[in-house]
Amino acid sequence: MSIMGDVIPSTAADLRRAGLVRALRAVHEAGGEISRAELARTLDCTRATAAALVTDLADIGLLTERPSLPTGRRGRPTPLVTPVPDGPVVAVAEVGVDGVRVATSGIGGRLSAIHSIPLPDHAVEAVAAVVRGALDRRLSDLGARCRGVGIGVFGLVDHTSRTIVEAPNLGWTDVDLLGMLGLPEHLPVRMGNVANLIALADSVRGIGHGRSTVLHIHAGVGVGGALVVDGRPMPGRSGLAGEYGHLPFGTTAELCRCGARGCWETEVDQLALARAAGVAADAATAAAAVRRIIKGARAGDAAAVAATRQVGVALGRGIGAVVNVHDPDLVVLAGHAAQLHTLLPDVVERAAAAAALRAHRRRMPPIASTPIGGDAALIGAAEQLFVELLSDPWSLATR
Ligand SMILES: [Zn+2]
Repeated sequence: MSIMGDVIPSTAADLRRAGLVRALRAVHEAGGEISRAELARTLDCTRATAAALVTDLADIGLLTERPSLPTGRRGRPTPLVTPVPDGPVVAVAEVGVDGVRVATSGIGGRLSAIHSIPLPDHAVEAVAAVVRGALDRRLSDLGARCRGVGIGVFGLVDHTSRTIVEAPNLGWTDVDLLGMLGLPEHLPVRMGNVANLIALADSVRGIGHGRSTVLHIHAGVGVGGALVVDGRPMPGRSGLAGEYGHLPFGTTAELCRCGARGCWETEVDQLALARAAGVAADAATAAAAVRRIIKGARAGDAAAVAATRQVGVALGRGIGAVVNVHDPDLVVLAGHAAQLHTLLPDVVERAAAAAALRAHRRRMPPIASTPIGGDAALIGAAEQLFVELLSDPWSLATR
């Protein structure tokens, strides 16, 4: 019997198991360090129960305790609960236009050993060779500690076929990247769209944490996002949900990469902002062009100011329309959507309110930028594995 995927404990063993899963998740969500007292508060249990759960998780080689530093506050010092050093980890990779980045992440979600490799070109075979080489080295370094591989790509990932349906920045269509990597069969491998992974990272580690319904919009080359309900991004039937950029909010003047006219992203993505500012850019150069335009707008350059306002209005109008569909309690922006909102909060928010239903306009959900920076996709790539791995602590056991 289950509700929303959580097993309802019915026996003492089930209760114990559910307690261990919750304790491990609490340590993970706290960033890998939580006092035993805080753990007991988070789990709504006694300190003795929290201590017993930590002991069980220590017995299978996942957690350890160390004395807390004196805080100067009154009361007994409480031990700090942390993952064991050299405990289980996942290897993650982000495939971008500029290069491939790999990192390692353990319980607590901190990234370590981040390594960047530039890409010689965007040919599928060349990129696959770079990713394969980087992951081979990482897996060999980690040995038995590695319990999964997470990959983020700037493109649409079909979860059923496990292929990249489209990656406009890389110029790819229907690419079986995983098939070309030859990863070990015993390791779980998860590949996701960067926009979805950023949403997942924010829902675990950012401002979306603990919210019920969060609309994430990520704008780069193309516009994507995710609706996150109770911390879980809604993937749709095959992982292709959240393609907000292809809602027909634009005029029909611009042909979209998807083949339709009038898609929202043709008015708000990085290429649209470059076009509005009269700057030549393609998928590979758009990010740098947008950085210059936003810097120019800050400095008062008239063309940059006009372009950012125009795109800011288009961004806001679309957000207002999607708010009408999802009724979120928070809108989280990433990519240059976040930069535009930081630059012109009133422009974006007024346009959003103008497009929203009267019921929302009276009480618009806050619009904010994710506080998670350039590592969000790597963090999300790890979280998509931890969502599964932490629900079975014994699968992670090191002894
Ligand atoms: Zn489109």
